[in-house]
Amino acid sequence: MTEIVIIGAGIIGLSTAYSLTENGIDAGKITILAEHLPGDMSVNYTSPYAGAYFSLANEDENLKYSEFTYKNMDKLREKLGGKGSGIGTCKSTENIQQDFDSDYLEKRKFADDLEIGKSQVPGCDLAVLYKAFIFNSPLLIANLLRYLTKLGVNVKREKLNDVKEAFKAGTKTVFNCSGLGALKLGGVEDTSMIPTRGQVVVIRAPYINECYLAWNDTSTYIIKRPDSNLDEVILGGFYQKDVHDSNTYGYEIDDILQRTIKLYPKILSDNPNGNRIEDLQIIRVVAGIRPGRKGGVRIEKQELSDGKVIIHNYGAAGEGYLCSLGMANEAVSLIL
Ligand SMILES: Cc1cc2nc3c(=O)[nH]c(=O)nc-3n(C[C@H](O)[C@H](O)[C@H](O)COP(=O)(O)OP(=O)(O)OC[C@H]3O[C@@H](n4cnc5c(N)ncnc54)[C@H](O)[C@@H]3O)c2cc1C
Repeated sequence: MTEIVIIGAGIIGLSTAYSLTENGIDAGKITILAEHLPGDMSVNYTSPYAGAYFSLANEDENLKYSEFTYKNMDKLREKLGGKGSGIGTCKSTENIQQDFDSDYLEKRKFADDLEIGKSQVPGCDLAVLYKAFIFNSPLLIANLLRYLTKLGVNVKREKLNDVKEAFKAGTKTVFNCSGLGALKLGGVEDTSMIPTRGQVVVIRAPYINECYLAWNDTSTYIIKRPDSNLDEVILGGFYQKDVHDSNTYGYEIDDILQRTIKLYPKILSDNPNGNRIEDLQIIRVVAGIRPGRKGGVRIEKQELSDGKVIIHNYGAAGEGYLCSLGMANEAVSLIL
């Protein structure tokens, strides 16, 4: 009997299943239903495309989710086997546009090794240094799914036309973690969703062992990818609202390379294969669509007339990994 159904096998759906089991819910009573599962690549499945990185420059209203995630990520890493889990840490420098405000520091004190200085990057005010989590997104979601199925969570590939189709025999609760799918899923059809495109260039760069980012009028970042056989480093990116286009563009590759090299010259200067752009080993270029939402994430309990409930948990935009455990914990708390 499937008492709890989770729609979605992205980082949010999988983290919700994890949080349920962490809160003592019997794994055998949980079923994940999803059109796309780890291993798939689709314009409608964001999670495999993420950098992914734990940013401290996230929206203030999401800080409670990111703080919870930061504090509980080591535990998840251990449960997934430590090295090879797809979760790592590294030194990070985030250059941000923000006048110094003691509140800013106070609210982010949960991060280890936190220091704040003046940014040297044009258009940025602060340089925020700390120990960041980094994620090998396709590997992490695959490992998380494997961990959950070992515990006894059921998984079924199914595309739903309406959220109510998720209620199977004996189902009392449905978690709607459909990401961008919330826009079209019958019974939800959330028109506040804003598809938000990003393109990244992935290079092989064993000589880069940190993250370096600038959030000014652009989103420019260099993210070390953990547990990657090819020593991948993600160079990005874009944050294009209302763009649902998974094509990649050569002029955007050039723009990303120009911006990241200007921000972090070591990309070329430390490359043992040569110091020209042509000497970079580009592994792939991809574009993904973030599940943005006007008004921010939706974590909400919807009571149906027959006593059943839907818990909505979607709209993570560009923060699905860094808010994953916190969003899941809040959604699960609505049924405990
Ligand atoms: C280029 C890029 C870089 C990013 N970098 C970062 C980063 O550094 N840090 C960070 O925290 N985040 C980052 N993100 C954002 C992050 O990837 C997303 O916030 C996150 O993946 C959203 O996860 P999700 O589970 O909500 O959605 P998804 O991963 O899209 O999962 C949705 C699930 O719902 C299923 N589904 C939807 N509709 C239906 C239906 N009708 N029937 C059945 N199943 C359905 C899908 O098949 C899928 O399994 C980045 C994103 C992009 C594109």
